[in-house]
Amino acid sequence: MSVTGNLFILSAPSGAGKSSLISALLENAKQDSARPMQVSVSHTTRAPRPGEVNGQAYHFVSVDEFKQSIDNKEFYEYAEVFGNYYGTSEAAIDAQLEQGIDVFLDIDWQGAQQVRLKKPQVTTIFISPPSKAELEKRLRGRGQDSEEVIADRMQQAKSECSHYQEFDYIIVNDDFEQALNDLTIIVKNQRLKCSQQAKLHNAMFEQLLQED
Ligand code: 5GP
Repeated sequence: MSVTGNLFILSAPSGAGKSSLISALLENAKQDSARPMQVSVSHTTRAPRPGEVNGQAYHFVSVDEFKQSIDNKEFYEYAEVFGNYYGTSEAAIDAQLEQGIDVFLDIDWQGAQQVRLKKPQVTTIFISPPSKAELEKRLRGRGQDSEEVIADRMQQAKSECSHYQEFDYIIVNDDFEQALNDLTIIVKNQRLKCSQQAKLHNAMFEQLLQED
């Protein structure tokens, strides 16, 4: 009997290392073709950054197109983040889940709140930086941003962090390998739940329970 995929949400302030963690998780998962994982590709009205490919990083759309999709009720959730719209396509996610694919949504706390209401079985994970000082160090990154930009990013990070208690799990990304291990355990934990295992091993249990 086929198993429906699991839905995960990962939220984090920028600088917590969320994208690197998801990439590493998916890279490791390639070895397990029986349980595929994918990251959902959101729609956004923000402009592509250098190197971002349409349809891979995001589906880049105009504000009018985005609003049309809202009117057509095409989104699981959508939100305005840092002055741009972002949204998750409902049809795409449902199709992946039905194929047994575990789907990861890289969305903000506003989106997480909306998905929780629609899909209470979703597993939500908050990735936190280990300290304010470390977050600021990471946000300063290549040292090319002005003090004003850094202060703005710190303010946005504070807003995202203020919702940490709404999540099922918290991973503190101090040591990357440890954080990746934590994330892997959370995914595994979900897959080992009775509801999933019972379906996967249906034939085995039928045999075990057969009358002699
Ligand atoms: P960025 O523009 O840096 O790629 O993403 C900015 C923020 O938007 C991140 O916190 C990211 O998680 C969030 N985001 C990306 N896609 C979506 C989405 O589909 N829905 C919501 N609610 N947030 C999103």
